Amino acid sequence: MNQKPFSITKAYAALSAKTPLVPYSLERRSLEPHDVAISIDYCGVCHSDIHQARNEWSGSTYPIVPGHEIVGHVKGVGTHVTKFQLGDVVGVGVMVDSCRSCGSCKEGLEQFCEQGFSSTYNGTEQDKKTPTYGGYSEHIVVQEDFVLRLPKHLPLAALAPLLCAGITTYSPLRHWNVRAGQKVAVIGIGGLGHMAIKFAHALGAKTFAITTSPDKKIDALQLGAEDIVVSTDEESMKKHLESFDFILNTISAPYNISHYLNLLKRDGKMAIVGAPSKPIEFMLFDLIRGRKTVAGSLIGGIKETQEMLDFCGEHNITADIELISIEEINNAFERMIRSDVHYRFVIDMATLQNT
Ligand SMILES: [Zn+2]
Ligand SMILES: [Zn+2]
Repeated sequence: MNQKPFSITKAYAALSAKTPLVPYSLERRSLEPHDVAISIDYCGVCHSDIHQARNEWSGSTYPIVPGHEIVGHVKGVGTHVTKFQLGDVVGVGVMVDSCRSCGSCKEGLEQFCEQGFSSTYNGTEQDKKTPTYGGYSEHIVVQEDFVLRLPKHLPLAALAPLLCAGITTYSPLRHWNVRAGQKVAVIGIGGLGHMAIKFAHALGAKTFAITTSPDKKIDALQLGAEDIVVSTDEESMKKHLESFDFILNTISAPYNISHYLNLLKRDGKMAIVGAPSKPIEFMLFDLIRGRKTVAGSLIGGIKETQEMLDFCGEHNITADIELISIEEINNAFERMIRSDVHYRFVIDMATLQNT
């Protein structure tokens, strides 16, 4: 008989856009030759978990088991798996597969797969039929090429947010070659922003945090910033006018972008990773004067995600987290909406056993 030791998994799911997450149970596939079965120890809570659970981006398909900041241990490997062994500490991020043959995939940029990558939840496998369920669960089965190796010497729970918040901010900093000798700003000190400050600082840039709240100064300095720029204080903004080489913009609420473009120096670049739900307007003169660039960035490819995790291992970088039990998840969503978290919630998946 075909053994299916990992098939049934406890989980938490949204059954509709308007109802809280509730205990749920689902079946994982049995191991294909290249599959890795992962026992999930911790899962980070990303803002997109809320957006998709509540259908705020539309197109959500229920039930949704959110979670794409997954860390755990290898509990089983398919017959052809060579990269992983039982007990390895591993992670899974936003993607669980892609077409592997388009131009983007061949370049290791699976996040831009021309056939659409398989998102870890609220998506489908590459057959475009089989639904995917995420990390708010006991275990998951993922093809080995989309499983990542984690640094062993760092606390596992604090590594979880690297799989989405980490790579989302690391990738643009690397793509636009942020380096020593540059002056860099990060707008917003949240789940994404706090990682961006740590990375920019570790890359050697003189890093500033742009925030609306002057009381975040001590936190920002602890994360590695030289100082903060208070966006609501004209004097503070004036002091940094036309001085930044690069700005990483993590704001997800509507805002006046011109305000920040004025902080870029000639040839300065702003990369955007936060997406407000309404269009943003600005005068193109804000770009023309000073030959400035505004660009977007989406997570990062698998190869770069591994590079980011190795970089975190070398520089001892982890996320600042608040560990919660799965029963606290609905309250955690509400607190995240109020930005009341330092800086990422991570669910202790052992608590699923109480449900
Ligand atoms: Zn995410
Ligand atoms: Zn592809």
